[in-house]
Amino acid sequence: MQLTIIGTGYVGLITGTCFAEMGHTVTCLDIDQNKIDNLNIGSIPIYEPGLEEMIKRNMIGKRLFFTSNYAEAIAFGQVCFIAVPTPSRDDGSCDTSYVCSAARQVGIHMKEPVTIVNKSTVPVGTASQVRSIVQSELDNRKSSLSFEVASNPEFLKEGAAIQDCLKPDRIIIGANNAKTAQLMRDLYSPFMVNYDKIIIMDICSAEMTKYAANAMLATRISFMNEIAEICKRVGANVNEVRKGIGSDSRIGYSFLYPGIGYGGSCFPKDIRALICKAKEVDCQSQLLDAVDAVNIRQKKVLGHKMVQYFSARGGINDKTIAIWGLSFKPDTDDMREAPSLVLIEDLLNLGAKLKLFDPIAMPNARQLLKDHPNLTWCKDELDAAKGADAIALLTEWKQFRFVDFHPIRAFMNGAAFFDGRNQYKPHEMKAKGFDYIAIGIPDQLKEV
Ligand code: NAD
Repeated sequence: MQLTIIGTGYVGLITGTCFAEMGHTVTCLDIDQNKIDNLNIGSIPIYEPGLEEMIKRNMIGKRLFFTSNYAEAIAFGQVCFIAVPTPSRDDGSCDTSYVCSAARQVGIHMKEPVTIVNKSTVPVGTASQVRSIVQSELDNRKSSLSFEVASNPEFLKEGAAIQDCLKPDRIIIGANNAKTAQLMRDLYSPFMVNYDKIIIMDICSAEMTKYAANAMLATRISFMNEIAEICKRVGANVNEVRKGIGSDSRIGYSFLYPGIGYGGSCFPKDIRALICKAKEVDCQSQLLDAVDAVNIRQKKVLGHKMVQYFSARGGINDKTIAIWGLSFKPDTDDMREAPSLVLIEDLLNLGAKLKLFDPIAMPNARQLLKDHPNLTWCKDELDAAKGADAIALLTEWKQFRFVDFHPIRAFMNGAAFFDGRNQYKPHEMKAKGFDYIAIGIPDQLKEV
């Protein structure tokens, strides 16, 4: 099939590339001319394992094209996906203006019947809004062209996006007629060689499914962060508790890791948008409010631990802290709403000196943090640790899993290790000479 993707960001670029990989012919459009120019010369704007080779392979195979020309892109596809941003407005509600603007362009430029499929995460009711916008543009042109609108929310995870896209757990389709549902089935048939992964439902339910999924995952994270704090205070080890509850098949192990709060471009904004939607329909959202509040609090937890630790050592002002990991999670360079940004700002306000290292996200982090006399950008984890009074692990990149701590400890000025991701064993770290402070683990942990 010939497909058009409007919006060539994480979702649009990866979806378009995976459709091309499966044999469809895809034109990806973006209003960012620079991004399109770079893609056309093979320069990839995001870091995602496996993406670059796949893009190049499909460009060479003439199944993947990039353009900023709306007329050309809309004329291309019989199915047109919208994958543009849906950021938070100041009040937390979802800003659908990018989706509406994309829909308007479809209405202005379409010359054949088209099926418009929304992949952006949008509140219930957005598909009807898209329908009205396209129809009003067609009316302006006195055109009687027909079109359909469907919802196909995206569930890929940054860092594992290619795998998620090629082998999705499920494909949610919201459609209001059998013809559109069948078209979506045909489109996704290359992804369902093993078994049928498509779940077809009405459009409102499909739009809501994405928010409910993200809300459930965020709830598990905030739940574990709260349990972790209780664990620490009562003398229990949350790492053990996690294993103990995860082994229950009704609970499972996924998304049970305490840490420094969830971040990224989706969870924080989607939870806020769902809370706003609930209020709009006069529905109480105590649980979601708490999930958000716990997360905001959790982003401050490691900073509080540092202040407490250094209060008996002359204060945190002027202390040097090595930061290992900046992106909101491993295997991505995405810094949007990364918890590291909150901690870094708090520590700078307290007068700390920070030595930053991330394997991939440094350029994006640098753009956001700008230059500051107390920030030093380092070439690796050892470089960051040199002369530091403490190390703080913020992102659990694989290369931090097994580190030779002996030279690191020797190069440090102090002995504190703040593990924001519970990556190490408390007794081992203590044996290596660190004052080891983690999430939900009491300082005086009894060895079994
Ligand atoms: P992004 O910011 O990475 O990319 C969006 C792209 O759309 C940008 O390149 C931007 O230039 C372009 N754009 C903006 N307005 C446009 C317009 N009118 N016409 C054409 N292009 C336009 O965003 P993203 O992370 O890909 O997210 C897109 C949507 O998918 C959001 O609703 C998000 O919530 C959802 N989503 C994201 C993820 C994720 O992991 N990033 C996962 C699932 C769902």
